[in-house]
Amino acid sequence: MSQPGELDDHVTPRRVVIVGGGFAGLFAARAFRHSPVHVTVVDRTAHHLFQPLLYQCATGVLSEGQIAVPLRSVLRRYENVDCILAEVTDVDVEGRRLIGLRPEGTPIEIPYDDLIVAAGVQQSYFGHDEFAQFAPGMKTLSDALMIRRRVFGAFEMAQTATDQEERRRWLTFALVGAGPTGVELAGQIRELATFTLRDQFRRIHPDEATVLLFDGGSVPLAPFGPKLSANATKALTGMGVELHMGSIVTHVDAHGLEAKGPDGTIKRYDAATVLWTAGIAAPPFADRLAKNTGAEQDRAGRLKVQPDLTLPGHPEISVVGDMMSLQHLPGVAETAMQTGFYAAKRIRHQVEQRAAEQKPFRYHDLGSAAYISRGRAVISLGRFRASGFIGWLMWLGIHITFLTSFRNRLGALLTWAVAFSRESRRERAFPMLQIVPGRDMYQPRRETVTDPERTRS
Ligand SMILES: Cc1cc2nc3c(=O)[nH]c(=O)nc-3n(C[C@H](O)[C@H](O)[C@H](O)COP(=O)(O)OP(=O)(O)OC[C@H]3O[C@@H](n4cnc5c(N)ncnc54)[C@H](O)[C@@H]3O)c2cc1C
Repeated sequence: MSQPGELDDHVTPRRVVIVGGGFAGLFAARAFRHSPVHVTVVDRTAHHLFQPLLYQCATGVLSEGQIAVPLRSVLRRYENVDCILAEVTDVDVEGRRLIGLRPEGTPIEIPYDDLIVAAGVQQSYFGHDEFAQFAPGMKTLSDALMIRRRVFGAFEMAQTATDQEERRRWLTFALVGAGPTGVELAGQIRELATFTLRDQFRRIHPDEATVLLFDGGSVPLAPFGPKLSANATKALTGMGVELHMGSIVTHVDAHGLEAKGPDGTIKRYDAATVLWTAGIAAPPFADRLAKNTGAEQDRAGRLKVQPDLTLPGHPEISVVGDMMSLQHLPGVAETAMQTGFYAAKRIRHQVEQRAAEQKPFRYHDLGSAAYISRGRAVISLGRFRASGFIGWLMWLGIHITFLTSFRNRLGALLTWAVAFSRESRRERAFPMLQIVPGRDMYQPRRETVTDPERTRS
């Protein structure tokens, strides 16, 4: 009989538990098909999210359902795989059980024989977590929907602004971080302003929207190399994105940000919408795992793994995907898929008692891509580089290939055909929450008046 909070365990085969149903977790789970193990995927959301297209959901091209598919549905044909909706908070390494919370806050325990941790990373504000309330990051579906309401809400607010200064503030969008996500978002907001919304407002000119892109480095998309960075710079400035390279953001509030420029002076920029796409950090569970196993972490808190992706001294625990640190491998979907698959295969080898020992993990680089605007993307694969329209066609092919379910592939293809040919974005609905940081809409603003009589009683 199980204890309160402990999951009923009627299962006799070896129990493999996977924390996280992202790219790494999903590829691990799928690799156990027809294997004599029982697999449980624990995730704090009920969906598998295609993060590379979050920015298209945020800017109204794709719907939530096109970039996120229910984990249960993706894994429905894998009869030995089950899913649990819970947030893992701790691990009892000796007792081989995970400790977590169900969505309404009650505890849950999940026993395992083998553990694969694939919990990804979260946004880092470089020690300034207080910026998060004003500047949402872009890692989860909730983040994308928050950005959607901030961006489309800002144009609506500009329409009813009472003076020029307020209007300008609502029509200024500041993005922090000029990696692929910042570049993609900046391009999308300018496209929105100059195409989609151009003739849909009567009292404002959406194409007057200013998009500011800040980054501490000297060029956008620096990891893509000087040639593609230069192409991206040209494309972005051509679209009207204002680049502020060599600028460190030192302060963010509800009305804008302050940045220290290359000359060391701090300047204020008024912007009603600030979006944060810089920096990553491992989630708190990584710290618990490190503490309980003695594993080392890198500067971002990711766990350092051995060449077989296990933690030193713990052959039963593998860490894969974005949350793992190994030979400076990039935190991209390919790494996640390949490491998830490898960790599962290693366990299968043991369970199925195969004689040959598994070789250490080897990464096969399939390159990287970033979308800049309609008809423009950059691709880097080994020595091969492509940009402009060719890059964009390749970007399209890559994303269609990797979209996780057929329905979404087809849906995305049709949506893109309409969106790219007519610049129409249909996924623009948003709830009236948090268009202004920290406030739900239509609540009257109240001045705080202290009533001495009441305070006393
Ligand atoms: C905006 C954006 C754009 C990107 N674009 C590209 C791109 O173009 N090309 C590319 O190759 N890569 C891209 N990436 C990177 C790529 O998406 C990641 O490398 C990949 O998703 C990592 O997979 P993962 O499984 O390690 O983590 P994730 O996909 O992040 O999955 C982690 C899962 O763990 C769950 N989880 C986290 N903590 C807990 C917990 N405590 N308990 C239970 N569940 C938990 C989460 O809910 C999530 O489902 C992009 C990422 C972002 C954010």
